[in-house]
Amino acid sequence: MITLALSKGRILDDTLPLLAQGGITLAADEADSRALILPTSRADVRVVLVRASDVPTYVQHGGADLGVAGLDVLLEHGGLGLFQPLDLRIAQCRLSVAAPEGFDYAHAVRQGARIRVATKYTQLAAQHFADKGVHVDLIKLYGSMELAPLIGLADAIVDLVSSGATLRANRLVEVEAIMPISARLIVNRAALKTRGAQLRPLIAALQRATA
Ligand code: ADP
Ligand code: MG
Repeated sequence: MITLALSKGRILDDTLPLLAQGGITLAADEADSRALILPTSRADVRVVLVRASDVPTYVQHGGADLGVAGLDVLLEHGGLGLFQPLDLRIAQCRLSVAAPEGFDYAHAVRQGARIRVATKYTQLAAQHFADKGVHVDLIKLYGSMELAPLIGLADAIVDLVSSGATLRANRLVEVEAIMPISARLIVNRAALKTRGAQLRPLIAALQRATA
């Protein structure tokens, strides 16, 4: 059995067409059910649904052989024990700094200054501001980051941006792009060694679907 870890939402929605190109489909009602283990049209392939941020953990510990995770999640996780063979070029967005309209970001991040930043990406944000020589007080949040600068919890946020609609709706401005983000296929290293013959054709099929 090959187990593929996906997360509901963008990752599942964007991965299903790639799998379909490889001849692997879910039953019509599966993606909408509450089940967490979904059989596929191939008896030897199943999908497990986990939180987006848990995908690397499942694959790292062998709970799944493969998974699809955003680069944001992967970098924040650290990627230990994971082989990352493919950029699937789905779920594309960017990691950015955003601040309220009128906030003088350039002044706030001059060398040696101090800034308060709310984010769920504390590792990536810490690295980014360290690279700039800016002292940062990081406030870890798990969602609704946009709220933090509006009520004075932070000066700025580090979050994913695609269209910018959420930022605009909250009168925030993207002040710095940190890095482009897309979803990656990740593979358990031990599984690839011991069951490579089983896993490689699926990886190759996803590669063809991405190309
Ligand atoms: P969650 O909110 O539970 O983290 P999402 O489905 O919103 O789940 O995000 C899963 C992954 O999809 C993220 O880790 C990121 O890589 C990507 N993603 C998130 N937001 C966007 C977006 N606005 N546009 C494109 N990709 C996104
Ligand atoms: Mg989200």
